[in-house]
This record gives sequence, C-alpha cells and structure tokens, in this order.
Amino acid sequence: EYAEISLKDIDQLAKTSFPLCMRHQFDKLKEDHHLKHGGRMQLGLFLKGVGLNLDDALAFWRAEFSKKVGLEKFEKEYAYTIRHNYGKEGKRTDYTPYSCYKIISSTPGAGDHHGCPYRHFSEENLRAALSRMGVNSRATEDVMNKVRNRHYQLACTLTFEALHGVPCDAGINHPNQYFSDSQKILH
Ligand code: SF4
Repeated sequence: EYAEISLKDIDQLAKTSFPLCMRHQFDKLKEDHHLKHGGRMQLGLFLKGVGLNLDDALAFWRAEFSKKVGLEKFEKEYAYTIRHNYGKEGKRTDYTPYSCYKIISSTPGAGDHHGCPYRHFSEENLRAALSRMGVNSRATEDVMNKVRNRHYQLACTLTFEALHGVPCDAGINHPNQYFSDSQKILH
C-alpha cells in the first residue's frame, strides 16, 4: 500500500518532508542514540507509514541504539518493539501510524520527545525549533498566533505552507499526510 523509501535517503527526507513532531524525535534520536517508548512508537509507526520496510527499520534503530546500549541489549530489549510495530510479534496487529489528534492528545513526560511540538513545547523552544527548520520570522509570528489560540494543526499547516511556498488547503490532519503532500510538491 505504501511506496518504499530507502534507508540511505532518510536523513534528507527528514529535513525536507518530516513534520516538526517527527523531525524533533528524529534529531533527538540521532543526538541521544535513544528514544523512550512513546517516541519509539510515534516515530516508528510514522516511518513504517512513509514506507520504511521492517529490515530497514531494524537497521535504522539498531544503528542508533547500539551506540548507547550496545548491540546485544538492542536485540534483546528493543528489536521486539520494532517487529511488534510491524505486526510480527505478539497479537500480530498491524499497527497504524498515529494521527495528529492522537499525538496532540498525548501527554509526554520529562525526557519524552513524542507529542506535538505546537502543543507541548514552551514558546521559546518552539520558536527555536521553527527557526532551525527554516521558517522565517513573519511566518513564525503567524504560527505562534495559531498556537496561542490552541489551533495546533493550523499552526502546523502554516509551517508547511511557509516551508513549501504553496497553500495546503486541506490542512494537516496526519503526520504521514504532511509527508506525502510534501513529497508530491517536491517531486
Ligand atoms: Fe505532528 Fe500533527 Fe503536530 Fe504537525 S500538527 S507537528 S503533524 S502532530
């Protein structure tokens, strides 16, 4: 159902086409070589949705986690969850990627990097993240206005429009929709 993406393209795709929630977790994973459970679920299912196959997903998480916890611990404690996300363990449910609604309603705790940055970041951290993404200062003020009015998905839509230079009339309802709309524009 999904077109496959290749592991070697993932850094580039993260920069051009991941929404801020996924970009943040991706960057933190690369920085800390670790993500807590909520992040592994949210980012892992998103990556499955963008078309990373199970073998590539295992390689991706292994490359980061093994730098922190070692290869053996990765295989013992973490590989299971990844196979589980792909429906290869446990009840063999084929889990679907989380919608914006579900992510915005989540309650990340200290040290968690999942959730929606428009909802869960402080104003200062959100401004810094938008600036790193390349959103200009005028668009940033428009985004912050939406955030103040608790219109988080509209804030994400404005970010998408600022970065792609085209309107997104349907609005952003799902991180994987952000990704596929972005890819459609860029290709
Ligand atoms: Fe992610 Fe949706 Fe929040 Fe955008 S609005 S950052 S896609 S959860």
